[in-house]
Amino acid sequence: MTGATDSDLLPCPFCGIESARVRHIRDGHKVVCASCQASGPPQYHGRADDEPARIRAASSWNQRIGNAADTLDLPEDYHEPASRHVVERFLTTMRQRLAYLEATALKEASSHAD
Ligand SMILES: [Zn+2]
Repeated sequence: MTGATDSDLLPCPFCGIESARVRHIRDGHKVVCASCQASGPPQYHGRADDEPARIRAASSWNQRIGNAADTLDLPEDYHEPASRHVVERFLTTMRQRLAYLEATALKEASSHAD
């Protein structure tokens, strides 16, 4: 993102309104939602060869959990809401973890029983 403008900013993740603006702060920039005042992390000017703080502020505002999910090895249908396959895999994992925790807790309890 070179020369980021306010129109490159995604809608606010809290209020959903497209009113985020890059604001100058002491020693840097941060993005602030003009509607609810939520803000992204401040980005400071740093060294001369750093990417401009304004650009970094815009990038960090536009970062969403979905971006992180794209980098993970998830099943192809992960993004389909309430996909049966994904829900069943999640439940299976949770049942296995719960069984492990129960077994561990029982072993722990019996070692202290006397
Ligand atoms: Zn907002």
